[in-house]
Amino acid sequence: MNICVVGVGYVGLVTGAVFADLGNDVICVDIDEKKIDDLKNGIMPIFEPGLNEIVLHNAKDGRLSFTTDLKDGVRKSEIIFIGVNTPPKDDGETDLSFVKAVAESIAECIDEYKIIVNKSTVPVGTGDLVREIIESKKRKDVDFDVVSNPEFLREGSAIKDTLEPDRIVIGAPSKNVAMKLLELYSVLERPMIITDVHSAEIIKYASNAFLATKISFINFIADLCERAGADVNNVVKGMGSDQRIGSLFLQPGLGYGGSCFPKDSSSLAHTVKAYGGDASIIDAVMQINAERGARLLDKIEKRFSSLKGKTFAMLGLAFKPNTDDIRDAKSLELIEGLLERKATVKVYDPVAMDNVKCKFPDITYCQNAYEAADGADAMILVTEWNEFRLLNFEKVKRVIKQPILFDGRNIYDPKRMHALGFEYHGMGVKPYKGSSNA
Ligand code: NAD
Repeated sequence: MNICVVGVGYVGLVTGAVFADLGNDVICVDIDEKKIDDLKNGIMPIFEPGLNEIVLHNAKDGRLSFTTDLKDGVRKSEIIFIGVNTPPKDDGETDLSFVKAVAESIAECIDEYKIIVNKSTVPVGTGDLVREIIESKKRKDVDFDVVSNPEFLREGSAIKDTLEPDRIVIGAPSKNVAMKLLELYSVLERPMIITDVHSAEIIKYASNAFLATKISFINFIADLCERAGADVNNVVKGMGSDQRIGSLFLQPGLGYGGSCFPKDSSSLAHTVKAYGGDASIIDAVMQINAERGARLLDKIEKRFSSLKGKTFAMLGLAFKPNTDDIRDAKSLELIEGLLERKATVKVYDPVAMDNVKCKFPDITYCQNAYEAADGADAMILVTEWNEFRLLNFEKVKRVIKQPILFDGRNIYDPKRMHALGFEYHGMGVKPYKGSSNA
């Protein structure tokens, strides 16, 4: 099939590359000239495992091309995917200006029947809005359909998620239109949910808000565990083994960040209120999440009394492992909090450091975890990259000033860390201090 993908960010670029890899002819369009020039020269605008290979290979074979010319992409394609950003406004409402701009551009050049697919995460009713914009501004009397096909990929495993999604949701205005999308996706042999456009739009927000709720719920329980002297890791084992609950997204810690959960939760709350509903459940989820960074900072401050002149080694900056994305990353809040308290911050992240440098040019960027730990008063684990799970803690102990560890993601076994001679502070577990028997 001939496909156009508008917006070459995390979603658009991965989607375009995977469709091309499946044998389609894909034109990726973006307004960012630098991104397009870089892609034409084989330079990836984002870090995503496996992306480089799949883009280069398909571009070389002529199935994947990049342009800033939307008109060209639209004219040559049967299906046009909109994958542009939908950031939040200050009040949580989704800023649809990028989606609207694409719809207006499509209206200007649509010259025969096309299917326009919203892959961006957009509030219920946006499909209707895109339809109205194109209908009212189109220059030729041509027919078209608007479909909702929300994206569920996760940064860090985006290619695998696109090739092997749990489900593909297609919200279409008619059976015939849904069939066209089914034809495109059938090669993946994954479950497909065919529904109406409005329901598809809500499925995306309901799914993300539900996962955010699981995270905030376990953090709410973690706080109780800490106050009551229980161990949240044991509580998670007990809860997660119930098949109705499951252990995924029950990881206590610093909470969620990134470009999706925060904005999608606030957008859902905004939509619910706009429809006259009560969004207090989502408001509570967001409130709990917003307090996680401050909770860890409090813990650190209590341990040291004053942070002035203290040095902290921060491991991980990206909002989660396997990505360079720092949007709404907890690391940013923690760095800011430590600097406000006149502490010195040394950081290490395998891929996200360049993105943080423009925000915090004056902190120390290190080559690895050991360099960050060198001379530090304590280490703070913020992003659970795999390479941090099996650190050589004997080596850390030789260079760190004091073997104190704040585990913001509960990835280490407190007893093991204590046995290794570390003072351990997790989330929702009692601190392990004093001499160990090891
Ligand atoms: P992004 O910011 O990485 O990329 C968006 C791209 O769209 C940018 O390159 C931007 O230049 C381009 N763009 C903006 N206006 C344009 C226009 N008029 N014409 C052409 N290009 C334009 O965003 P993203 O993370 O890929 O997210 C895109 C959408 O997908 C959002 O709605 C997001 O909520 C949703 N989503 C994201 C993820 C994720 O993990 N990042 C997962 C699922 C869904």
